[in-house]
Parts: sequence; C-alpha cells; structure tokens
Amino acid sequence: MTFDCQETKRHVHEYLHNELSDTEISEITAHLANCDSCETDYDMENLINGAIRESCTEVAPQELADRVLAEIRRIQANGGSH
Ligand SMILES: [Zn+2]
Repeated sequence: MTFDCQETKRHVHEYLHNELSDTEISEITAHLANCDSCETDYDMENLINGAIRESCTEVAPQELADRVLAEIRRIQANGGSH
C-alpha cells in the first residue's frame, strides 16, 4: 500500500489525531518527508490543530459555565445578606 498525494492529503487530519494504523502512519510519514506539497498541507493542519487545542484549554466551556454560575450564586448570596 502506497499513499499518493491525494490519499495523503485526505488522511492528514486522521494522521494528526492518531486515528490511523501503524502502517498508514509510516506510509504517510514517508510520503510527507518526500513531498513538499503534502508537507505544507500537514503543517497547515498542524497549525490549525494547535490553535484549536490552545483555545480549548484556555476556555473549557464547562469550566467557564461553572465559573459563571458560581459567580452568579456568590452575587445572589451577597445581595440577600445586606
Ligand atoms: Zn504528496
């Protein structure tokens, strides 16, 4: 099994997310090492991926919701004890 450019670009996303078999990973790694076009695609995807991961760790939606809710409760509790 050999990955051409079309196949490689189609699997770049899965490749970054470790969703491929060892064989597929080594095929794509080999292709990326020899193909500037696919390497650029991989770099782009990697960059976008990193940006998404960073913004997710900065603001986890559940954590943010909890924090907002706690703040509302604190304000309400203070308001009641005046
Ligand atoms: Zn290629």
